[in-house]
Amino acid sequence: MHSFDVVIVGAGAAGLFCAGVAGQLGLKVLVLDHSEKVAEKIRISGGGRSNFTNLDVSAANFISENPRFAKSALSRYTPADFIGLVKKHGIAFHEKHKGQLFCDRSAEDLIAMLLAECAAGGVERWQPCAVKALRFLASSAHGISASSYEIDSDRGTIHCAAVVIATGGLSIPKIGATDFGYRIAKQFDLPVVTPRPALVPLTFDEAAWAPFAELSGLSLPVDIATGAKKNSMSFREDLLFTHRGLSGPGVLQISSYWAEGTPIRLNLAPTVDLAQHLTQAKGSSRKRIANELAGIVPSRLADTWVAQGQAWGHDWQRPVNEASDKALNALAERLSRWELTPTGTEGYRKAEVTAGGVDTKVLSSQTMESKQPGLFFIGEVMDVTGWLGGYNFQWAWASAFACAHGLAAR
Ligand code: FAD
Repeated sequence: MHSFDVVIVGAGAAGLFCAGVAGQLGLKVLVLDHSEKVAEKIRISGGGRSNFTNLDVSAANFISENPRFAKSALSRYTPADFIGLVKKHGIAFHEKHKGQLFCDRSAEDLIAMLLAECAAGGVERWQPCAVKALRFLASSAHGISASSYEIDSDRGTIHCAAVVIATGGLSIPKIGATDFGYRIAKQFDLPVVTPRPALVPLTFDEAAWAPFAELSGLSLPVDIATGAKKNSMSFREDLLFTHRGLSGPGVLQISSYWAEGTPIRLNLAPTVDLAQHLTQAKGSSRKRIANELAGIVPSRLADTWVAQGQAWGHDWQRPVNEASDKALNALAERLSRWELTPTGTEGYRKAEVTAGGVDTKVLSSQTMESKQPGLFFIGEVMDVTGWLGGYNFQWAWASAFACAHGLAAR
């Protein structure tokens, strides 16, 4: 029988970081993973350079049934703390866009850093190693009641005082994502907010999308919004046309807020008063409408848009000075308030994260311990989902740090 203070299941971002901190706080820690390689998501993140945090992080950058839950952990382990660690390990990094920090060289540097931190804490690591069963043992000896767990793994039975579930979400199953965390929650009667793909491209009905599929590969800055007025969410980011629908940072961001069956709203020319621009052009230009429009949006989009006019009941294939005000206003309206309803998403195969997860109402925001004594959940497996831009890793670090300190204080 193997014996540890803590067993952490999942050697990804949150699991490895928690293991290193807990080990350095004096706990005897085992971290195990069913995959041969640890931290595969760090390896592929940020195009191989990992957007490991963001300079500007607050609870407002996260989605959860309880939006305040993340506040405490985020304030106790901040981006500056993680940047300090990255600097201590001599890893060079740079800011790319809106506070997003990336490694200069490779995400592999971060993995090496986390493994070095584990080694410094004397952490034992088993992989590949699968967990077959987890049992809660409650005992009362010498008047002191203590709880512990027994784990059946394919390397034998393990006894430990606490278990941390850090198995992440469901996205990208081909690199080892499983529903293990949700199954453990169910085993101990802990509620799970229904998981769904987030930070994911949106898809449309094939026939309805056909006129726009030819724009595949085209990218432009847009305003994108979803939700009813009261709780509407919007972003100004790039949009990317694909064969099956829409992607790019703006769409990934809005996908986390999008509810099935509801529309998204796009302004394809967010920095221009299009109606005013076209009315002015009418008085001074003989260019075709598409050519006039090509000064504002990419010309491929201008051509497709004007050609699409017929389907929308307008004739936009003419010089701007021959168009009626009504037609020009309709064109401006269509471009700046394009409302369309996705039929779905590209699913977990393409989603960067999983929204939903173990309900925070049964978790301590101080320690990440669940109502089941000695059972902790950290990282993406919980119902805390960050925006695109380094927020999901910052949650992994912050929740792991809170948990490690909670474990040490038990
Ligand atoms: P993970 O890092 O997913 O780790 C979970 C671990 O648990 C894995 O090692 C897995 O093998 C293991 N595991 C699963 N099931 C079991 C089981 N049954 N038994 C044992 N082990 C198991 N976020 C950012 O902030 N910035 C980015 O640049 C970024 N880029 C991304 C790019 C891509 C393509 C993807 C898919 C995600 C990206 N993310 C990014 C999101 C980020 O990777 C995750 O939110 C983060 O890794 C979550 O950390 P975690 O430790 O909770 O889970």
